[in-house]
Amino acid sequence: MTILATILWGGAALCARCHGRGREVRYLATTMAHTRPFRPAYLELVDSGELHHRAAAARELLRGCRLCPRRCGVNRLAGEQGACRLGDELRIASAVPHYGEEPPLVGYGGSGTIFLASCNLACLFCQNYELSHGGEGYRASPEDVARTMLALQQRGCHNVNFVTPTHVTPQLLQAIALAAEQGLSVPLVYNCGGYESVATLKLLDGVFDLYMPDFKYADAAVGARLSGVPDYPDVAKAALREMYRQVGDLVCDDDGLAQRGMIIRHLVLPNALAGTRDVARFVAKALSPNAYVNLMDQYRPCFRAQQHPEIARPLRPEEFSEAVRLAWEEGLTQY
Ligand code: SF4
Repeated sequence: MTILATILWGGAALCARCHGRGREVRYLATTMAHTRPFRPAYLELVDSGELHHRAAAARELLRGCRLCPRRCGVNRLAGEQGACRLGDELRIASAVPHYGEEPPLVGYGGSGTIFLASCNLACLFCQNYELSHGGEGYRASPEDVARTMLALQQRGCHNVNFVTPTHVTPQLLQAIALAAEQGLSVPLVYNCGGYESVATLKLLDGVFDLYMPDFKYADAAVGARLSGVPDYPDVAKAALREMYRQVGDLVCDDDGLAQRGMIIRHLVLPNALAGTRDVARFVAKALSPNAYVNLMDQYRPCFRAQQHPEIARPLRPEEFSEAVRLAWEEGLTQY
């Protein structure tokens, strides 16, 4: 039996995308549920052998790369690089139990967060620019990644949380298959920027129990200016619909730990640039009014933001209050 309860939570926590550097996220409410004993979805795909097929199919997308909506067309298997500046390799920037993620991911053992180097977006205000733009990180084989996942599980982490996985999805699928064969049993989190290809996401159906995409902007022109892609809102909407189709609203166990579902992050930007009303309306109407949305107030001008007047200052408290009001007005109940 599923019992839903709304838990009001007025605290603050460190944000994963800030890499635990002190910026705050405020959660006003979260939805919790408890259900049957949990078995991660990927174990079915391992048992049937399907996961290795998925990994192989994803790897083929690197040849004339069309893993993400940028569709660079470069042959990454031959070492060519597209907008994400990676060939065939995967780089890990850090792998740690993280206590600054959303409460349903953290629990008492932390979220087993694996920060991946490089990114398919080019956000001018990136809070992880050393890794996402600088490519900081060590080269890791699928075997290395599998060992890392198992080590995080062994340390008591409640999940393995891949931060910015989009551009290395094939390598991760290989690693997940290896780790699952060696005893991995915690849910997996796909923690991404929201600029995802639906075709690639379909390869992840039944692999990730938890999706945690950003929905950054409602206005394509803002996405083009700030993240270097011309079609962010349409792409993100299609991606979020597919993720929601796969996993639905967030479901937690008796301890409030996330088992399956979607958490959407929306960073409120200065000067209403994020388009919070339209984002909230889309989520409430096209996905679910019960979708778990983390409205984030920790915007600070990082990376190249100081060179762009519209994002060169921190968010003001009244701007965040207005965003909360808009989310409420548009019918969101968990934010
Ligand atoms: S994953 Fe990288 S190379 Fe491939 S399409 Fe996206 S940005 Fe381009």
